[in-house]
Amino acid sequence: MNENFMRNMKVVNYCWTCHKVHNIGDRHPSEKPIMCECGGYVVTPSGKVQFAILPVTSVFKVDDGERHWIAAKDVDEVRTVYNAVYDETLEDDAVIEPVALDVLRHPFISTEEGRKVSLIDIIRDQNDFPALLASSVW
Ligand SMILES: [Zn+2]
Repeated sequence: MNENFMRNMKVVNYCWTCHKVHNIGDRHPSEKPIMCECGGYVVTPSGKVQFAILPVTSVFKVDDGERHWIAAKDVDEVRTVYNAVYDETLEDDAVIEPVALDVLRHPFISTEEGRKVSLIDIIRDQNDFPALLASSVW
């Protein structure tokens, strides 16, 4: 496994019943069961969990004629990053939408070396968030 694999990633757990996301990272592993508000298990009495490894940041796609992928916590932060990077104000009619996890994992960004990388690959290499991850302008 790549030593970089967990960088800028987090583990989230899911309720077995309602599938709500729970962050139990700071709970002691022997603490079980852990219950969801719905009455279902997050950690079962025998210690079973459902989990996923997700980026620590959400990602938005901005389409203003060009496409830009920006790691940010919300749309306001997306606009702040865009304005700072391009030194111009993002148009009000630009489309800003969250990027789904399967898209984040799909390698579709071309690097200068001609390789294809995923947005998650780029997130792993980031030192700070929010950030512009990729753009079709390049
Ligand atoms: Zn639940």
